[in-house]
Amino acid sequence: MKKYDFLVVGAGLYGTTFARQATDAGKSVLVIDKRPQIAGNVYTEKVEGINVHKYGAHIFHTNNKEVWDYVNRFAEFNRFTNSPVANYKGELFSLPFNMYTFNKMWGVVTPQQAKTKIEEQIKKAGIKEPKNLEEQAISLVGTDIYEKLIKGYTEKQWGRECSELPAFIIKRLPVRFTFDNNYFNALYQGIPIGGYTKMVANMLKGIEVRLNENYLSKREEYNSLADKIVYTGPIDEFFDYKFGPLEYRSVRFKNEILDIPNFQGNAAVNYTDAETPWTRVIEHKWFEFGKDENGKDLPKTVISREYSAEWKIGDEPYYPVNDEKNTSRYQQYRIEAEKHCNVIFGGRLGEYKYYDMDKVILNALQVEH
Ligand code: UDP
Repeated sequence: MKKYDFLVVGAGLYGTTFARQATDAGKSVLVIDKRPQIAGNVYTEKVEGINVHKYGAHIFHTNNKEVWDYVNRFAEFNRFTNSPVANYKGELFSLPFNMYTFNKMWGVVTPQQAKTKIEEQIKKAGIKEPKNLEEQAISLVGTDIYEKLIKGYTEKQWGRECSELPAFIIKRLPVRFTFDNNYFNALYQGIPIGGYTKMVANMLKGIEVRLNENYLSKREEYNSLADKIVYTGPIDEFFDYKFGPLEYRSVRFKNEILDIPNFQGNAAVNYTDAETPWTRVIEHKWFEFGKDENGKDLPKTVISREYSAEWKIGDEPYYPVNDEKNTSRYQQYRIEAEKHCNVIFGGRLGEYKYYDMDKVILNALQVEH
């Protein structure tokens, strides 16, 4: 008899959701994490009274009512709506691509005028069936928007040419012929009031958690504790990179506390030219809906510049590079994983998938325990 039914490796959203569900179903669960804190990459910490998204901005959005109701059991959500601004060499454009963007780009006023402009550009480019991100982007919004708002940002973000990237990445962004700056096509959207860490702590209530514990360095010892393992770290690392490492993009965050109440007037500003070394600047206070811009409540502001970089061993992996080469390498790991029937691999790193938070939670809710 082992001490626990489940050992969950990683206290991010997948591990935490699984742990909650298994515990509520009467199973015994131990959660471990190698970091000194819970919440994985949704971790937020208070700086100058502001919840800072330490591992990158996370805006919860979903169309799934079950997931929305689930997260609302553990947190109250504010009514933040993500509307990033693109800065191309000092010129500002609305995101996602919508009538405000088209008006600024071409002076067009009606949806029909915008469509005509885009269709002209698509026709000129001569793309029939888009095979990569570049062709997909041009087929959606034409060459001007591709050149000014997509190419530079994407090539900085992924460190690869747009023609070498999978088309699905750009399909994450809506294209609208309405005046609507909401970045997500989602019925439900918001940020947990008090931060994600508080939400995850609520999810873990009554569950044993051990921090600063590195599973891979004490595998035998941990395996002896539980019948089943839920592993949410990188799948290639779990198998000692036996088929070669999978590629990830990492992000370096340069944070600053500024002695002014309002730096950029928005939570996210994307720098879409190729020359600016960072991809975007996040001003964390604007995630907290209703904060007063004159600085009465919060006289200072915290900003994070994001620098994208190729991941190497020892860095934090953030984005799986789901191109052909890595997808087929991942398949080899997946086949190996099937042979380990006592291990469940989950989450962005365990499944090597560019998942959003709601999909991660949904997948964890659907696992049998
Ligand atoms: N993207 C872009 N310009 C922008 C914002 C996004 O070209 O101003 C592209 C880029 O390729 C990026 C993808 O759209 O990787 C998905 O963007 P999203 O905002 O969903 O990325 P995340 O927030 O996950 O980093």
